[in-house]
Amino acid sequence: MKLAERVQRIQPSATLAITARANALKAEGKDIIGFGAGEPDFDTPMNIKRAAIDAIHQGFTKYTPVAGTDELREAIAEKFRRDNNLVYRKSQIVVSCGAKHSLANLSQVLFERGDEVIIPAPYWVSYPDIVCLSDAEPVIVKTDETTNFKMTPGQLSESITKRTKALILNSPSNPTGAVYTRDELAALAEIVLEHDMVVISDDIYEHILYDDVPFCTIANISEEMKEKTIVVNGVSKTYAMTGWRIGYAAGPEEIMSQVAKVQSQNTSNPSSIAQKAALEAIRGGQDTVGIMVSEFQKRRDYIVAALNDIEGISCTMPAGAFYVFPTVSGLYGRSFRGTSITNSTELAAWLLDDALVAVVPGAAFGSDAHMRLSYAASMAHIERGMERISDAVNGLE
Ligand code: PMP
Ligand code: GLU
Repeated sequence: MKLAERVQRIQPSATLAITARANALKAEGKDIIGFGAGEPDFDTPMNIKRAAIDAIHQGFTKYTPVAGTDELREAIAEKFRRDNNLVYRKSQIVVSCGAKHSLANLSQVLFERGDEVIIPAPYWVSYPDIVCLSDAEPVIVKTDETTNFKMTPGQLSESITKRTKALILNSPSNPTGAVYTRDELAALAEIVLEHDMVVISDDIYEHILYDDVPFCTIANISEEMKEKTIVVNGVSKTYAMTGWRIGYAAGPEEIMSQVAKVQSQNTSNPSSIAQKAALEAIRGGQDTVGIMVSEFQKRRDYIVAALNDIEGISCTMPAGAFYVFPTVSGLYGRSFRGTSITNSTELAAWLLDDALVAVVPGAAFGSDAHMRLSYAASMAHIERGMERISDAVNGLE
């Protein structure tokens, strides 16, 4: 059967595929150390679980309004005021089945064939394919360590054409951990506002920041910029709720009403029970967030130092999120039992098969000189994993 061309333009999510492969090997009895999946290893806090259990007991198990319950959207509006100094009406907020779903909805609403969408690389693996699924063209803008993996205003200017529809920004970044400062965002905003385009700002790692680095979203730059921004966020990372599938987006009403319309035809509301849990996450005590972040910080410091101790690998210090993105191209050309390693995909395959360590090749994020490791794993796990990588690299010819 001939399938639609659009499915042939995309790949399965590499992060999820590697996690699935690592889990399958574990199920076969192999002692795999996984640095693949970007999800907190902490349990969802008890107050959040209780809210979901109460929702079930109270029979809150039916359809809700498509865009999310009134109380959850009000709580999200309060969160935007509290954390970001941004004012949105309830009608400007749509709750979806994860931030990935929010992005997919936005892509359907905003993009079509002939449109270009600027994505700075290294990028989160799903952005280009989400854009392709709406038949638009991703325009990849390469960045590297020389600008701390951040797109410069000059690069943005050069990549804008008459067909440019949007820029997708992600700060703190998955996979690099880069965090844009207010000044850097202001410089990008100035260029955006000279053109007929919007920004999708993926703020999902907003609370996972280290060393007192402040968070700023491009929507904060000016009222005019806020009108051109759709902010995407969710509860997966901040509250260790990846499986609950609640994300949300906020932006101009003319866009968000169409997002709700698309969602009404595709999925209806996200799970009623997960919405009650997300309400407690956003409105309830926030203490668990700080505890989790300080634990991540210890792991970050350890893993960066351990990677830099391995000959052929060098790693910058990420300011946010829970990933490291070391340069590993220093290992390319070396070989294992006569087989040469020439790129990040071969390196990741070799590490999985021979060192029993799962990492994601940089190629999946648009940068073949790197690999990504998630340090949302226990310290013991990280220590053993680093030992294995070090021993394996030392065994290369
Ligand atoms: N954006 C980024 C940058 C991410 O890393 C993730 C993690 N999967 C998502 C969006 C989607 O998160 P979720 O769908 O779990 O809310
Ligand atoms: N965002 C996480 C990651 O990058 C989870 C997997 C996914 O949704 O891609 O690993």
